[in-house]
Order: sequence, then C-alpha cells, then structure tokens
Amino acid sequence: MKSKWIFLRLSILSLAILVVSFAALWYLIAPRLEEFNVYLAWVIRLAMIASLGTVAIGLGLIVLSSGTERDFLWPRGEKQVTVKVLFPLNIVLGRLLGISKDTVRSSFVEVNNSLVKASRKRIEGRRVLILLSQCLQNFDCPHRVTATHLNCKRCGKCQLGEIITLKEKYEAELAVATGGTLARKIIVDTRPSAIVAVACERDLTSGIQDAYPVPVFGVLNRRPYGPCYNTEIDLDRLETAVEFMSNGCGNAN
Ligand code: SF4
Repeated sequence: MKSKWIFLRLSILSLAILVVSFAALWYLIAPRLEEFNVYLAWVIRLAMIASLGTVAIGLGLIVLSSGTERDFLWPRGEKQVTVKVLFPLNIVLGRLLGISKDTVRSSFVEVNNSLVKASRKRIEGRRVLILLSQCLQNFDCPHRVTATHLNCKRCGKCQLGEIITLKEKYEAELAVATGGTLARKIIVDTRPSAIVAVACERDLTSGIQDAYPVPVFGVLNRRPYGPCYNTEIDLDRLETAVEFMSNGCGNAN
C-alpha cells in the first residue's frame, strides 16, 4: 500500500466512527431534548449534521486531490478542519490497529506533499524557504547557525554546507530552527510563499499544520545515530523538492 493511503484509510475509518458515534448520541438524547424544547433539538441536530458534513466534504476533497494529484481543493477551510478533527483520531485508531504514531505521521506528510503538488499552481510567488531542524548540524560544531547560516564554515562534518550550496543554486532562503517557536518566528519574518521543511515525523506534522496557509513540502530526515543527534538528509530528495517548489516542476516525492 502506498504510504499516503495509510492516513487516508484511517481518516475514512475515523469519519465512519464519528458518524456512528453522533448517531448513537442523537438516539440517546433526542427524546428528552424534543420533550424539553423542539426548536433546540432542531438546532443541535443541524449543528451535528453541519459539523459532520464539513469534515466529510473536507475528507472527500483531500482523498480526491491526494489520489489524483489534481487540484480539487480551493481556498476554503474544510481541509484544515478535517485534518484537525481526524488527525488525533487517526493516531488513536492507528495504535489500536498496531500502526505506530510515526507511521501515521509519515503518511500524513505524504498526503500533505501530494496536496501541495496538486495545488502548486495556486502558490503565489516563488520565495522558497528551506527550513532545517538544528539536529542536522554536527553536534560538536561550535558555530551558531541558528542565528544565521552564514556562520557555517562548510567544513564538511555535516551536510549544512551542501544545503547552503543548494540554497544558493535556487536562490532560496535558508534557516535553521531549534524548535516550533523559532520556526514560526522565521516564517513570520521571512514571509515565504512556500517552505521545504526537513525534520522528523513529529516536527513535520506539527509544522505543516502551524504554517498554514503557507504550503509546506515535508522531507523526512534520517536518524542513523538515534533521534535529534547528527541527523542526515537525502540531498537528491531535498534538491528535487526545492526545485519543484521554486519552479513548479521536477518530480518531488
Ligand atoms: S558544515 Fe561544519 S561548520 Fe557548517 S554547521 Fe556543519 S559542522 Fe558546522
């Protein structure tokens, strides 16, 4: 199964569970509510239908856009609402089905990337920000690259030097963040039209949601020495993503 379908199938299952739960709840409370006030009962019934409808429409558009990589998402809020509602449910459901949190998160990143590809024509301008997590920097490096990447001496002990060369080639912005708060500040300061973010599953899933409405193409890092320590990146994959976000071409995946 393609990785993005793990998240999409879990989302469909989560929505089905939500519908059944709402129906059961309504079955239990409806008689007393109608006895109390028939208009209030109608208001609550309509509110339940509207919220389920919003999530269902959002999921339908996500599945359609992600599956075909064609743009069925227009600038409306259903996608965000759907992700906010279904994401935590998918994590719980995944755990019950023996699917790890990181697998669900990584699948979400794949879904997100396919949606970014589908809606690439709507990206305004080509100010691309390459946003890296600090753990890509060599742990023993004395230079403070979170202040500015210009402090990097390109000594070759980590991949930052090569990523700076990539940044120069595509005339992108580049920043290194220690965490979500700094990443949000960098986005506000640089005002990019698109972001290519390199991080672990957890940081990418939260970063993608925090950066909305700026589109984020997520590239998962590699962790040969364990989490948050001297992490690495597939440079070819990063370049394809930066090229895609800069020119709207290339075959990012
Ligand atoms: S390339 Fe060298 S100088 Fe630059 S961040 Fe990595 S270890 Fe430090």
